[in-house]
Amino acid sequence: MMVDPKSENPALSLSCWREINLSAIAHNYRAIRSAVGRDVKIMACLKQDAYGCGAGQVAAVLDAEGVDGYGAVSLQDARHIRERSPEKPILLYPGISPNCGSIVDELGLTVTISSLAELEIWSYAVRKLSAFIKVDLGFWRAGALPAEVAGLLACATRLSNVQIRGLYAHLSELPGSGPHAIEQCSRLKQLLVAMEKAGNRPGTIMLSSSDGVLRHPEMDFDAIDPGALLFGLANMTHARRPLSLRPALDAIKARVVSVKRVDDSIGPVPDLPGYRRNMRIGVLAIGWGHGLPRSLALGACAIVNGRRAPILPPLHLEHLRIDLTEVPDASFGDEAVLLGFTGRDAIGLSELSANFNTDDVGVYCGLQPSLTRVYVS
Ligand SMILES: *Cc1c(COP(=O)(O)O)cnc(C)c1O
Repeated sequence: MMVDPKSENPALSLSCWREINLSAIAHNYRAIRSAVGRDVKIMACLKQDAYGCGAGQVAAVLDAEGVDGYGAVSLQDARHIRERSPEKPILLYPGISPNCGSIVDELGLTVTISSLAELEIWSYAVRKLSAFIKVDLGFWRAGALPAEVAGLLACATRLSNVQIRGLYAHLSELPGSGPHAIEQCSRLKQLLVAMEKAGNRPGTIMLSSSDGVLRHPEMDFDAIDPGALLFGLANMTHARRPLSLRPALDAIKARVVSVKRVDDSIGPVPDLPGYRRNMRIGVLAIGWGHGLPRSLALGACAIVNGRRAPILPPLHLEHLRIDLTEVPDASFGDEAVLLGFTGRDAIGLSELSANFNTDDVGVYCGLQPSLTRVYVS
């Protein structure tokens, strides 16, 4: 295949890349919106650079769709979101240092508070503090204990530069802990009764993310903060509100940068699965440095010119080998597909995540920034 360096198609000048479908993300947002209705705020969780899809680009799409706000972990992601969505609230989940008060001020971010110590430090670090209180309803991670919330709210009310805009929890379950979502929700409801009695219920109560949206419609409260669903990553088993979603990651591709038929002059055949005499070896310009795992399951393939080419171990930082013996027309510069549709065949996300020995979210979030994002719609 000829590579035209003047072409408009950015992928033509790349050696490896991933294709991200922004209209799939817009579609998924609309599916969530129609499931929860107009009255529930959607705070799009764009942590981990929007699950690898690019926080800024995804925020631009969601801003145009009318999203209510965002959740983020890193200041870098928050900055990228702010550049593309100047007006909407951005909630920082626990994870940033209070030394960053001036950036929180500059970008107009909302921080999370889980303890009196955090409240005190943040109220010094930021001139006018906008905050959500996080409560831990049984996830054993960040968040105030339910019993601490009343004291925290009472203390915050006395600080003139602090505005508590919301209270949230992450409805998630530890493996082996059983289905505790309903118990977690009832802990939140008890807190709500107490806050309403004390007259200090924050404006936004938020509990559900992706799983809750699908399985617990009664837990919508004022806002939800789904992440995975926006990118088409969801397990619809037992969904009471099944959604029709599209994957945001359309493809992972790399170019064939070397092709040769080996002969005996190269020396003995390596004692590794898949190697043999006189085979045709191809090299793809992608490796574990781009976020592929150090080793792939045996049987993992790339598709070149519509044919499956087995991937040969081991993987290298920037290269991997494929067996092109059965793809005789493959040549230097051709495109190889590690994920996606091509001609007659396709490698789907479930096949890829099994070969990566991870799950679908693990594939999205494990890809490295060096695997250039090409946006398609
Ligand atoms: C990760 C995370 C989310 C989003 O979770 P999904 O399962 O991807 O929807 C929401 N809120 C918090 C606090 C999180 O850490």
